[in-house]
Amino acid sequence: MHLHEMSERKCDGHGCGHYGASRGTRTHKGVDLNCKPLTVVYSPVAGTVTKIGYPYSDDLSFRYVEISDQGYAFRVFYVDPMVEKGQKVSKTTIIGEAQDLRPRYSGITNHVHFEIKNADGEYVDPTPVMLAQRA
Ligand SMILES: [Zn+2]
Repeated sequence: MHLHEMSERKCDGHGCGHYGASRGTRTHKGVDLNCKPLTVVYSPVAGTVTKIGYPYSDDLSFRYVEISDQGYAFRVFYVDPMVEKGQKVSKTTIIGEAQDLRPRYSGITNHVHFEIKNADGEYVDPTPVMLAQRA
């Protein structure tokens, strides 16, 4: 499934899915997109895989994939990776399968998290990107 085909996660007991939503003392720096576990997830952009990372240092079962293009870094969290660092990808490349968040967050709406950093390393709101791809 392409990220722009997924709907935004509404609020549940663990928070809301929109950019800027409260996360206790922090704010949510990406957008959460409803996605069932094991759904195949396509790259949101054409670019190069620059990192396969770990969202949580205390649980290495969760992963994220970072794709970079023209100074921007696009990260998709909670996917079991099916690409490797250095690999070129396009919007038709499957980057991984969505993971099940419920073992970590009981009752949460399963989702993937999508965030974008610009060339200055600042988070930008992915929502306009999502809307443009839906159009
Ligand atoms: Zn999120």
